Amino acid sequence: MRLGIDLGGTKIAAVVLSGDGRAIWEARAATPRDDYDATVEAIAGLVAAGERAAAATCSVGLGIPGAVSPATGRIKNANSTWLNGRPFKEDLERRLGREVRLANDANCLAVSEATDGAASGARVVFGVILGTGVGGGVVVNGDIVTGANAIAGEWGHNPLPWPAADELPGPACYCGHRGCLETFLSGPGLAADYARRGGEALRSEDIVARASAGEALARTVLDVWEQRLARALATVINVLDPDVIVVGGGLSQLRDLYARVPPQWPAWVFSDAVVTRLVPAKHGDASGVRGAARLWPEG
Ligand SMILES: [Zn+2]
Repeated sequence: MRLGIDLGGTKIAAVVLSGDGRAIWEARAATPRDDYDATVEAIAGLVAAGERAAAATCSVGLGIPGAVSPATGRIKNANSTWLNGRPFKEDLERRLGREVRLANDANCLAVSEATDGAASGARVVFGVILGTGVGGGVVVNGDIVTGANAIAGEWGHNPLPWPAADELPGPACYCGHRGCLETFLSGPGLAADYARRGGEALRSEDIVARASAGEALARTVLDVWEQRLARALATVINVLDPDVIVVGGGLSQLRDLYARVPPQWPAWVFSDAVVTRLVPAKHGDASGVRGAARLWPEG
């Protein structure tokens, strides 16, 4: 059986998938923030619990908010920054006594949704995570495209395209640049934009609730966020031209965005018509962890 782990910034999710793709066991644990050793231990604890529940030794696949550097074997690009520079795969393999497969969490989302989710049957799929961070992953004909530098699909640290004067130079990003997409499109980015326009310090979900309740400032901030998302995804369409863009992460729950963003694409995409579909992840929150389990083949 296949065990998957999705290591997020606030929680770690785990699943055991049966041969036919059913979740036979699921669990969650809080992410030990800023504590590398405790993160390894928390994952080992979930693996032990899953194997007890399944009464079997499982293959282990892990989705992480970053990538294993092909150059060093260490983690890079994680917004859970305490993982960066660490030999995480090696340490997990030593702790668990077996080979472990690691992939970027957006790649896991994309492969999960391309296999039996909202992008099932699509040839070229771009998976997007809009949450604490902004990630992306590419699946073609059912296979993850990792890339020469293990950053295929990593669009979050590209600059916001076609910026207006008031969007320059953009907020500072932990990566060292300013104006990265992540600083505008992540949950914290949305919240920061609301505060910059004179709103209170609120969480993104509270801003969404206020917009639904008719607050004008919250509605403006969401309108601008959707327009920025449309611009940002237009550059992905111009490069990759996916059949389906599937969205996961906390902000994927904004049900309006699937109707409101695609009509804005023709203004930015270099094409006479745009047929790319924008859809929420069918497996929702569980998509990343299901994709992580699928990093190993069935059987
Ligand atoms: Zn950045």
